[in-house]
Amino acid sequence: MKFSTLVSFFERLEETASQNEMTEILAELFGKASESDIDIVCYFTLGTIAPGYAKVDLGLGEKTVIAALARASGRDEEAISRWVRDRGTLSALAADIEIPWKEEYRDSIAVENGLRVEDVHDALMRIATASGSGSMKKKKAVLGALLAAADEKERYYITRLATGTMRLGAGERTLLDGMSHAVSGSKEHRPVLEHAYYTCSDIGHVANILKRSGISGVKRIRVSLNRPIRPMLTQRVGELAEIVGKISSERIAAEEKYDGERIEAHKDGDAVRLFSRRLTDITGQFPDVVEAVRSGIAATTAILDGEVVAYNAGGGTYQPFQQLMHRRRKYHVKEYAETVPVRYMVFDLLYLDGNSKMCFSYPERRAHLKEILTPSELLTLSGMKVCTSAEEIRDAFLSNLKRGLEGVICKSCATDSMYEPGNRSWQWIKWKKEYENGLTDTLDLVIIGATAGKGRRSGGFGSVLCAAYNEEEDVFQTVCGVGTGFSDEELEGLPEKLEPHTLDRKPSRCQVRNRTEPEFWFSPEYVVEVLGSEITKSPAHTCNWDEGEKRGLALRFPRFIRWRPEKSPEQATTAEEIARMYRQQGNRETRWPRRR
Ligand code: ATP
Repeated sequence: MKFSTLVSFFERLEETASQNEMTEILAELFGKASESDIDIVCYFTLGTIAPGYAKVDLGLGEKTVIAALARASGRDEEAISRWVRDRGTLSALAADIEIPWKEEYRDSIAVENGLRVEDVHDALMRIATASGSGSMKKKKAVLGALLAAADEKERYYITRLATGTMRLGAGERTLLDGMSHAVSGSKEHRPVLEHAYYTCSDIGHVANILKRSGISGVKRIRVSLNRPIRPMLTQRVGELAEIVGKISSERIAAEEKYDGERIEAHKDGDAVRLFSRRLTDITGQFPDVVEAVRSGIAATTAILDGEVVAYNAGGGTYQPFQQLMHRRRKYHVKEYAETVPVRYMVFDLLYLDGNSKMCFSYPERRAHLKEILTPSELLTLSGMKVCTSAEEIRDAFLSNLKRGLEGVICKSCATDSMYEPGNRSWQWIKWKKEYENGLTDTLDLVIIGATAGKGRRSGGFGSVLCAAYNEEEDVFQTVCGVGTGFSDEELEGLPEKLEPHTLDRKPSRCQVRNRTEPEFWFSPEYVVEVLGSEITKSPAHTCNWDEGEKRGLALRFPRFIRWRPEKSPEQATTAEEIARMYRQQGNRETRWPRRR
């Protein structure tokens, strides 16, 4: 496909705010793309160049792109920087500026009949993989050549791809809907496509298989080592006793609930890779866990699911989540591995010696896991007690609290208790200490805007506008503005932290009532944990908007608790969960929750 054709689809996607229209445009795009470029078309549409787990980083900061533009256009960097300030964005400037073609560029890029999608991808991959001394020079040279080969509109989108500011308004789910529409004229295949995507985490691969082998081919997509599987998620209930009715099996496994970081470990012979909740490769952060998995798992190949917690082995005590955050670093990793020791609490086995275990029942998976895991200070099977009544679950829960844990995760032991990638399943239900006191759970919300600060806060932000994710519509809907709970330091740092994601208008996937529009807009990127007193109906917020009543659901008295860097915007609390929490609140007395 010509890159200019793809650009015309991008323009159409940006012109509409209707998810249905986007789905149709994406279906048409799927039809136009070929087997050889459909994967790239998908990555570019989502503003990336490869699946997230592939660790492909262009390494192009704004400064580098400015330098490349200056060199290629023959202007000086200072003038370019000034222009960027005037034009507002680097991509707008890149579209405006003239970049003459030079014969020497032929070594970097083939342009006989205009740029093809593969040419752009190939150039961007060369930029990403340039390493060692002289790599910056090479990156700038390839980018300059690519921009010189492009026309005005192409330059606009190439610069957005290069600077990570693409965000067309079509999210992953809309893209999957588009793929379903392309082959069936409806969204009927979305669940199959979603399951395949959650199993392999590569939307380009799913699209490619769909193109080549149709939906039956997609159904055959299996787990593979070194491609993360979306973690299975837990449901919540209003009362502990409800767990017994919701989980249909007679026997319920009440597992210890840890407050750490979800990590999926892939063991491939002696090589071990660790993936985060966002499916990014975080192997480098936990050399101790890598070694523990390598030596403590008696299998040639395996995929484990579990939680890494900060742990004081001497005292046998679990440390707060904040401790673990010290391990989130690129540098001084070894030093911190000693000062903040961790333990990997493994609770599931998804793959063993060449075979997926996801279709096996929970008791079977656990039995296999027990067989292959040799416990050590750094690696342990999660604690678990099989229960048959709410009383027994409560006992397990209270015993966990005494040992400094957060609560229980109750899991079905039924014969059909399969591992459901990415699904918030009723097979797994969490019960945390906060719920016990009749308190509302925290929400994980996405920042999409901010109001200007007044008085003591003038010059900074007064509050941030937060949204939940509506999975069905693939949009973000507002729930509250949060101005309290931030430390002075955090509040001061907010403008700088959010600046790279600033937009000059409402982000296209966000639904906001006019009266709630903030002064500043941000593309959905940061997830924050927020605590409130209760969920109420409100005319100001769009979450679960009821057109008849002209009200949505809002969080009252929200306060910031912590950043959730391990969550992607689509992993924020969903509108559906908020609706359920609203119903579960019922007449229950809600009290102001304690801070963690
Ligand atoms: P969610 O994961 O439901 O989106 P969250 O990230 O705020 O929400 P919690 O509400 O604290 O997390 O609880 C669910 C999480 O608990 C799981 O995603 C997992 O990371 C963690 N967890 C801890 N112990 C277990 C366990 N034994 N089994 C499954 N998950 C566990």
